[in-house]
Amino acid sequence: MAKKVRVRFAPSPTGGLHLGGVRTVLYNYLFAKKNGGDFVLRIEDTDQNRYVAGAEQYIFDCLQWAGLEPDESPIHGGPYGPYRQSERKDLYRQYADKLIKDGHAYYAFDTPEELEKMRHDFKNETNPSPQYDHSVRMKMRNSLTIPGEEVKKLLEEKTRFVIRIKMPENDTVSFTDMIRGDVSFDTSVVDDKVLLKADGMPTYHLAVVVDDYLMKITHAFRGEEWLSSAPVHILLWKYLFGYEHMPAWAHLPLILGPSGKLSKRDGAKYGYPVFAMTWNDPKTGEITEGFREKGFLPEAFINLLALLGWNDGTEQEIFSKEELIEKFSIERVHSGGAKFDYEKAKWFNHEWIKRSDVQSLKYEVRKQLSRDGDMAIDDAFLEKVIALVKDRCTLLTDFYDQSIFLFKAPGQYDLDAIKPKWSAAKAAFFEDYCNELQNITGWNTETLETKFKELAAQKNIKAGELQLPFRIMLVGGKFGPGVFAIAEVLGKEETIRRIKHIFRFLNS
Ligand code: GLU
Repeated sequence: MAKKVRVRFAPSPTGGLHLGGVRTVLYNYLFAKKNGGDFVLRIEDTDQNRYVAGAEQYIFDCLQWAGLEPDESPIHGGPYGPYRQSERKDLYRQYADKLIKDGHAYYAFDTPEELEKMRHDFKNETNPSPQYDHSVRMKMRNSLTIPGEEVKKLLEEKTRFVIRIKMPENDTVSFTDMIRGDVSFDTSVVDDKVLLKADGMPTYHLAVVVDDYLMKITHAFRGEEWLSSAPVHILLWKYLFGYEHMPAWAHLPLILGPSGKLSKRDGAKYGYPVFAMTWNDPKTGEITEGFREKGFLPEAFINLLALLGWNDGTEQEIFSKEELIEKFSIERVHSGGAKFDYEKAKWFNHEWIKRSDVQSLKYEVRKQLSRDGDMAIDDAFLEKVIALVKDRCTLLTDFYDQSIFLFKAPGQYDLDAIKPKWSAAKAAFFEDYCNELQNITGWNTETLETKFKELAAQKNIKAGELQLPFRIMLVGGKFGPGVFAIAEVLGKEETIRRIKHIFRFLNS
């Protein structure tokens, strides 16, 4: 029987969740759902120095907003918990000890000053930033260079130590990446990474391998930035578990901004979001606006992320989550960097707003309209408004500008656009139109338009010349959907009231 697919997203809770992070979640999620598997969220919080309060909750909230909820996580629970590495601290040590026993790792007692001295002494033109590796390890203070008895004593005296992997020299580590194919690394260029820190916490390298093993992860999909760590992980899989159920690997392509890897700075520089939701950095007080707050629908957000590095081989661009689950395949993810284009991202959102039904937009639009304070909004009226303006909204935030005039009379009117061509004949037209509207039967777009045109013809005025003043009377400016459709939604009383209100200014 084939093994049940189990994938994981393993973020370190250090800040806002970047586009690339959510795309990693998405690809994991799609793969799990497509294969009837489990999607695990594991919080990799072993680096206490980088811990940021609120970042974990923020990750949960982002996943919930994007509709990518895990099956197992610190809050959902599950059979392989705990799902927070800090709560698993005690189980990693035995694996580090096994590595030492088998000669694949060693205790290192070097002080920060000694490490600094090493970096200074070994620095030269060909080696500008020396690493703790095979070329220096025998000149340092560790259990490879200190006699066994002394090591025992140092440990008994509780001297501070870390445990480092002993990277083999002149060896090749190879694996098959589901996206990149066969990848090989020369082990000589990889340093002896710390596996267990002086505070007893594992580093990411040890914890990720142990947890992927214990949590029975079958596929590890992560960002390309982790590719250089892969040889360490593969060796740990070999040394600790003899490759027993090692996951299949895939390193997802970078997301590129205008100048290389998309960064938070690009967002600030070019005025677009790079985080899923607004991130309020408790350390710096800096607030970085997210896609959600910018007015993106989660459906659009995951659609645009799915296509940052993947396509289904056709020209299709709009995919629902269900379609993505059906069509996604990791082999179709390309290895080259995926260029992020904010204009294209907005296009996806516009398409999704157009496709969304009125009911599903109500909650968000209400929120947008209450921007200046709570407003009593009749439900049936709101539905009409959304149906009227949604095709004109690229972002959810556009609903405010596109429709607030339907709830409140405009605060300003672009009278300058009408005044130069205003005439007594036009004034008479609107007066008569108001009278007709008073008695009209069937208050709808077509009748309003027919009456308008008939009256214009009777009065020998071009209907086109009357439509702009009419629009400005109802809307305040030269924008918005069809003016008769606006009048239909505004209703008889309000339409007549607005026409008469403007009259006062034009005829004075
Ligand atoms: N903790 C790593 C991160 O912060 C996870 C990398 C991996 O998936 O192996 O992204």
